[in-house]
Amino acid sequence: MSLSQLARSICESPTLKLNETAATLRDKGEPVIHLGGGEPKSKAPIDAIVSCTAMLQTGDVKYTPADGIPSLKKAIIRYTEEHYDRLVAPENVIASSGAKQSIMVLLHTILDPKEEVIFPAPYWVSYPEMIKIAGGVPIPVAARDGGFQPTVEELAEAVGPYTKAIVLNSPNNPSGVVYSDGFIAGVVELCEKRDLYLIMDDTYNRLIFDGRMPTNCYRFTQARDLDNSKLVVINCVSKMYAMTGFRIGWAIGAKEVIRVMTNIQSQETSGPAAPSQWAAVGALNGVQSSIESLRLTLENNRNVMMTRLAAFDGVKVVKPGGTFYCFPDFSAYEIDSQKLSRLLLDKVRVVTVPGREFGMEGHLRLSFCGTVKDITEGIDRIKWALDPGAPNELYLGGRKLVRDWR
Ligand code: PMP
Repeated sequence: MSLSQLARSICESPTLKLNETAATLRDKGEPVIHLGGGEPKSKAPIDAIVSCTAMLQTGDVKYTPADGIPSLKKAIIRYTEEHYDRLVAPENVIASSGAKQSIMVLLHTILDPKEEVIFPAPYWVSYPEMIKIAGGVPIPVAARDGGFQPTVEELAEAVGPYTKAIVLNSPNNPSGVVYSDGFIAGVVELCEKRDLYLIMDDTYNRLIFDGRMPTNCYRFTQARDLDNSKLVVINCVSKMYAMTGFRIGWAIGAKEVIRVMTNIQSQETSGPAAPSQWAAVGALNGVQSSIESLRLTLENNRNVMMTRLAAFDGVKVVKPGGTFYCFPDFSAYEIDSQKLSRLLLDKVRVVTVPGREFGMEGHLRLSFCGTVKDITEGIDRIKWALDPGAPNELYLGGRKLVRDWR
């Protein structure tokens, strides 16, 4: 089969692949615990469903403007004013099929071949592949102190003649770390000084714990107005409203950037699916209590997971300040994260995501977006599989397991 060089260089999304693996095993009756997931378990807000079904009942489901329906743009403008204290024009907004498409279209808009995009490691699995698809070169930057947040100086050292953009994602997938205000301010300043785009991926910024407030990156910009700024903010309904399947995200940026993004989106996919846009309008304009209740559930789940992980002598974990992921270091047990993840799936049917996919070996990404029972039982199984001090036997859905791999 003759396939393009580019196509052959792109890896499949490991997290989506794991979802498939978990579903296939479950269909076969296997007692799988999915700690690899990337979506809240709660239902979409009722206002989203009412708005979407009202639209569907008209039977009038047609193409929409390529950058989104006016009602969705209005809702996004209101959201931006409320949460970012910025009044933006409709021409500063594009709605896409998920945050993923907003980022992808943005990369196509700004990158020339071989231009570089810098982002801190660990990073969301899709950044390197998306940058490659857009013809660019991904440049991950790891913190020299081995932690989850490089310094502004470390990012600055990676900036070269081909650098076009920096991507920040805070709270961070996979580490759950909330970057400090000082760090974000420093990166905004760096980008403005070096004339770089800054892509702020705020996908998780409402899912934040311990009484902290989401960081508003606009506070740090010196740009006179949005149209003279290379700061582009990405958001979506996917995580905060538990609406991953609706596929609605958006970008806020300079009019010229949004105009070109709209051209590209209009040629690639046209506007996002109309029922999904109406669902997002319902979510954004409706009762907002579901976000707080999700946030509280996740904070409680995070605490349960931290307590359970604390029972592992060899595991080092940084307490996540947001998202629904944590990224413990299992290297005391096994440095090869793919091997470890495979062992946990094969032996105790727990799905985890290998740290290598996020640019950090020896770690596993564990999600706490499931039930407390999933978390406790999942970690207990992992402990049983890895801890030589654990009893030799474990009952898995009525099946007796005897540890024979150590
Ligand atoms: N950015 C980050 C950091 C994510 O984790 C995800 C989803 N896993 C996205 C963007 C994409 O969100 P969406 O589902 O809206 O495309």
